[in-house]
Amino acid sequence: MKIAILPGDGIGPEIVAEAVRVLGALDLKFETETALVGGAAYDAHGHPLPEATLALARQADAVLFGAVGDWKYDRLERPLRPEQAILGLRKHLGLFANLRPALCYDALVQASSLKPELVAGLDILIIRELTGDIYFGQPRGRRTAVDGHFPGAEEAFDTMRYSRPEIERIAHVAFQAASKRASASGRPGARGKVTSVDKANVLETFQFWKDVVSAVHAQYPDVELEHMYVDNAAMQLVRAPRKFDVVVTGNLFGDILSDEAAMLTGSIGMLPSASLDANGKGLYEPSHGSAPDIAGKGVANPLATILSVAMMLRYSLQQPQAAERIESAVQAVLAAGLRTPDLWSEGTSKVGTREMGEAVVAALAGAAGDALRSGRTMTRIKS
Ligand code: NAD
Repeated sequence: MKIAILPGDGIGPEIVAEAVRVLGALDLKFETETALVGGAAYDAHGHPLPEATLALARQADAVLFGAVGDWKYDRLERPLRPEQAILGLRKHLGLFANLRPALCYDALVQASSLKPELVAGLDILIIRELTGDIYFGQPRGRRTAVDGHFPGAEEAFDTMRYSRPEIERIAHVAFQAASKRASASGRPGARGKVTSVDKANVLETFQFWKDVVSAVHAQYPDVELEHMYVDNAAMQLVRAPRKFDVVVTGNLFGDILSDEAAMLTGSIGMLPSASLDANGKGLYEPSHGSAPDIAGKGVANPLATILSVAMMLRYSLQQPQAAERIESAVQAVLAAGLRTPDLWSEGTSKVGTREMGEAVVAALAGAAGDALRSGRTMTRIKS
C-alpha cells in the first residue's frame, strides 16, 4: 500500500507530521512518499499542483493532505493560487464523494454551540456529491436579460444539473456507508438510515434526485431511507441532530449543511474528511484550512488530520480495526484532559501540536493517562 503525503502550507506540515507519527505507530507496513502542494509547490516549481505531485497522487492508494493557502498568494491569478491544487486533485482523481463525519466526543460536549443534551452521543455522516450540481453546470455567465422582471437589465445565471449515473453512484456510497455503520455498531438488528436531502418541491433537478435515490434504495432493503427538504434539514440539524445517521445530498446543499453539522461538534480542529473515487481510492484531509494565523507556533490541533488517517484506513486501506484503534486513542487523550488551545477550558491541560500527537501514540499503546499523569512526554503550554 502506498500513501502520498502532501503537507501543503501553513499548519499543514505540522499537523501532517503528527498524523504520520500516528500512522507509523501502527503495526502495519505502508510505503509513503511526500511531495509539495499548494503555495509551497508554487514557490518551488511555479505551480500549486506540479506534474510530479499529481503523478504521485495518481499512483498512490490513498492521499493524506494537510491544507493549502496563505494570504500572501491572494494576488496570484486564479489558476496559480494554492487552493486550485485541491480542485485539480479532485478533478484528476475523479473524487466525487465527500464524507464528513460529525461526531461529538463525550469529553467535548461542552464545546458545542448546542445544549449538551442535544449533542451528547452525536454521530452522523454527511455525504456530499462533489463534482456536479450548480457549481459546474453549463451554461453560466453574465448577459443582458431578454425576459424576466427586468428585460434589458444585466443579469447573471448558473445551471443546476445532475445526470442519473451521478446520482446513482453517490446514492450507492450513502447506502453502503449506512449499512457498514449499522453492522459496526454491534447492536443486534441495528438498521442504518439514509436521509436524502433535496428541494424537490421547487427544483426539477432535485425531483429527479429524489426519484433516482429511491430507485437505488430498492437494492438496500437493510437500510431505511427518508427524504427531507433542505430547509427542514437545516432546521432539524440544530433542533434534533441525533435523529440523523447518514445524510446524502448534492454539492450546493452539502457544502452548507456539512459546515452546519461541523459546528455541532465544537471545534473545526476535530473534523476529518474523505473524498473518494469510484474504486475507494481517496484523499483524506482535515476540514479546516491552513490557519496562517497560528502556523509555526506549534499550537494547531492535529486531531482532525489524525482522524483523517483513521478514515483512510477504513475507506481506502481496508484496515477498519486500525481505524478504530486511532479513534479510541483520540477519545482516550480527550478523556485524559489533554487539549490544544482551540479546545482548552479551565480544568483541562493545554498541550501543543507535537505533544498531542505523542499522546495519541501513547494512547495507542494504552498509556494516555500514564503519559498525562507522569508529564514525562508532555511539555505543557502555560495557560
Ligand atoms: P482556516 O480553517 O484556515 O482558519 C479558520 C480559523 O480556525 C483560524 O482562526 C484558525 O487559526 C483556526 N483553525 C483552523 N484549523 C485549526 C486547527 N487545526 N487548530 C486550531 N485552530 C485552527 O480558514 P481561513 O482562515 O478562512 O483560511 C486560511 C487559508 O486556508 C486560506 O488561504 C484559505 O483559502 C485556506 N483554506 C484551505 C482549505 C484546504 O486546504 N482544504 C480549506 C479552507 C481554507
